[in-house]
Amino acid sequence: MAGIAKTDRNKEKYVLKAKRLGIPNARIIDTKTVVVANWVRLKCQYGCSGYNKYLTCPPFSPAPEYMKKVISEYKKALLLQIEKIPPEKEDEIWGKFKRIIVKLEREIFLDGYYKAYGLSTGPCHFCKKCDTTKRCVHPDIARPSMEACGIDVFQTVRNNDWKLEVVKSHKSLCSYVGLILIE
Ligand code: SF4
Repeated sequence: MAGIAKTDRNKEKYVLKAKRLGIPNARIIDTKTVVVANWVRLKCQYGCSGYNKYLTCPPFSPAPEYMKKVISEYKKALLLQIEKIPPEKEDEIWGKFKRIIVKLEREIFLDGYYKAYGLSTGPCHFCKKCDTTKRCVHPDIARPSMEACGIDVFQTVRNNDWKLEVVKSHKSLCSYVGLILIE
């Protein structure tokens, strides 16, 4: 752990916990490496079938300008990634990944990091159909995805020396990426 500041060393237990829960890639990162860009929102609006269908997606999720301000209020975060997910396992792993994120968020919060907040991946499938005319029925587990808030997930992952490549077909293996803002 050479080169890791003492305060980060205290947070390394969340890395170990994430790994124990089944997320192989986990690391404490500087929030300056988290990139937020307006073009991400554009891709949600024109090109994603989830637009306007889920409370965790645009136009309901935080806009990039707002998210930039939110992230500037944090210094450290926990970056999480599960790689090489086969298409037939996507749904199962999506649910598991989201639940681990809120579990870790809660643990970090209860440790005294009162600002802890988790962001996940993809649209929310906890309900058969998301009723966007009402409030979320599972606020304990539903979190917006990183990309839904305007985060450039590719650049953020690469800034932290991990790999994330474009998924070229529905038969290809994919990755899930999440972020828990800590303090
Ligand atoms: S938990 Fe249900 S209501 Fe809440 S965002 Fe997800 S699908 Fe929508």
